[in-house]
Amino acid sequence: MQVLVTGGAGYIGATTAAALLEAGHEVVVVDDLSRGHREAVPQDARFVEADITDPEVIDPVVAQGSFDACLHFAALIEAGESMQAPERFFRVNTGGSAVLLEALLRHGVGRFVLSSTAAVYGEPDEVPITEDAALEPSNAYGESKLLVERMLAWHHRIHGLKTASLRYFNAAGAVTGRGERHDPETHLIPLVLQVARGQREHIKIFGTDYPTPDGTCVRDYIHVADLADAHVLAVERLDEHGTVTCNLGNGRGFSVREVVEAARRVTGHPIPADEVDRRAGDPAILIASSSRAEELLGWTPRHRDLDRIVADAWAEYG
Ligand code: UDP
Repeated sequence: MQVLVTGGAGYIGATTAAALLEAGHEVVVVDDLSRGHREAVPQDARFVEADITDPEVIDPVVAQGSFDACLHFAALIEAGESMQAPERFFRVNTGGSAVLLEALLRHGVGRFVLSSTAAVYGEPDEVPITEDAALEPSNAYGESKLLVERMLAWHHRIHGLKTASLRYFNAAGAVTGRGERHDPETHLIPLVLQVARGQREHIKIFGTDYPTPDGTCVRDYIHVADLADAHVLAVERLDEHGTVTCNLGNGRGFSVREVVEAARRVTGHPIPADEVDRRAGDPAILIASSSRAEELLGWTPRHRDLDRIVADAWAEYG
């Protein structure tokens, strides 16, 4: 297949672009490099520097190819930022997707895979979270993606667009040359590794009074290589399903303390931790049920061990 990968200079997009090439697909990456890194784009992919939110810019990019599918990663991702500037998230994530979809439909691209998020659920009533759980985002980031999922349902119904919405839990780990680098960094594993690298004095543990076994929040860390595999399977199986919505998670939860302990084992650094107040808006436990992805996509996460996930991130950071 010829696949257009938006946001293919970012952490998950670039990892997936590489996996698509490995599976024998042809890849064109489009990224405006506002948050991504040019050097993360695989060498065998064609690269176009462009902003998907501008119809004048994206239309010719789509017109120039004969794409079988689009995998759409280009988006803003910081939940905290979305609560300061929701308008930016609705413009880039929701509006940008609308613009992109219009160009894809105009040029007959019939398959679309959306990089969605567990943030569409908000605070869950029960864990593990299934795809049938209530959709009540607790931040504008989750809402901006949920609106795209809803758009896709209409495009499927009206235009027959084949769509997959993949709701990621906590992407982590790394493949060679494509680590997680955000600026500013807010994610737990990269921050813990910054301490091990001497760039930060200690890690702050946000809240130790949660109703969890050790009092700290529990998250489902899923290796980015496993996320990439799921995208390849999703795009290859879209003709079979027409439309799918799947969670992508490890199915196992790890607490903040467990992550810090794993990083101590992996790096050999003591990683001082400072216990501070809760961060606003953090649910106590988020763990995915990924049984639908396993059943419909034939996907099984290969790197489920926390030490392995942290070690792969460290290999890119260290
Ligand atoms: N966290 C923490 N210290 C930090 C960053 C994060 O204790 O410096 C916690 C955060 O409260 C959450 C977990 O680590 O419970 C994962 O946070 P992250 O921002 O990586 O992902 P999120 O689950 O918020 O998407």
